[in-house]
Amino acid sequence: MFDPVLNALDAGTAVPAFNVPYLPMVEPVVRAVVDLDSFALIESARLEWYKFEAKSAAAVAAEFASFPAPDHVRLHLDHVPVIDEDDQLIDYMADIQTAIDLGYQSVMIDGSRLSLEENIAATKKVADMAHQAGIPCEAELGAVLGHAAGPLPPYEELFASGRGFTRVDEARRFVEETGCDWLSVAIGNIHGAIAAGAKDKKKIAARLDLDHLQRLYQATGIPLVLHGGSGIPREYVLASFERGIAKINIATEIRQAYEQALAAVGSVTAAQDAVYERTTWLIDDYFGLKGTRRLINSG
Ligand SMILES: [Zn+2]
Repeated sequence: MFDPVLNALDAGTAVPAFNVPYLPMVEPVVRAVVDLDSFALIESARLEWYKFEAKSAAAVAAEFASFPAPDHVRLHLDHVPVIDEDDQLIDYMADIQTAIDLGYQSVMIDGSRLSLEENIAATKKVADMAHQAGIPCEAELGAVLGHAAGPLPPYEELFASGRGFTRVDEARRFVEETGCDWLSVAIGNIHGAIAAGAKDKKKIAARLDLDHLQRLYQATGIPLVLHGGSGIPREYVLASFERGIAKINIATEIRQAYEQALAAVGSVTAAQDAVYERTTWLIDDYFGLKGTRRLINSG
């Protein structure tokens, strides 16, 4: 099984994963990754099909196939929740099977709104299905807040209390019992808002509990994933790469670059250029992940 995130962990680097809530974002992200001779995932979350303009898993897969660069980019299915941000039950097995049939090269099941037992059961089913298809499976344990409507509690309060943080004992058991390949953890990171009226605002600069991260990595031994990667101060991001984070998700930062350029200039080409510039800056200047293609493919 080709597992770029495990290869990244082994090589001491990380894989950025870029969300594409608007289909024209695919081309400039791929171009940036190729130009930097880097490696990244292009990822699509269920809510981006309905709440933004990515349309469907099939539409994203078709767009992705138009810009082939298999040594540089792979297609990942981000968050398929068991219970979504509006408290609706989702037929997650069907959604994930559809994505596998479309050729997605890794998938994520998000049972984080369930009890531990239910999350383990759902994740195990999806991990088994993914492994049968020969691809890695990501799961989430703990609460990476931000997607649901309504205001977040004050951030400093949230961070100080550790509320929703992934628990070390639970993470160990979860990974053992589910066989998931990558684990999204909550260590102070938050998702960017997606609700109308909030999604355009500047995201707060989340901090990370790096000691807690280290304990989670020691307990699980698998690549950990940092969701809500936009807006986290650089020193925390770089330190997290030393403590088990091998995949970082970026959504808000490049989405807002696209939306703001589109609103200001009114042309999709200008918006694509803005995404290209921001993606290049993130990979090279912010994350220091230029030139990772060879490391990740030789794992
Ligand atoms: Zn996420």
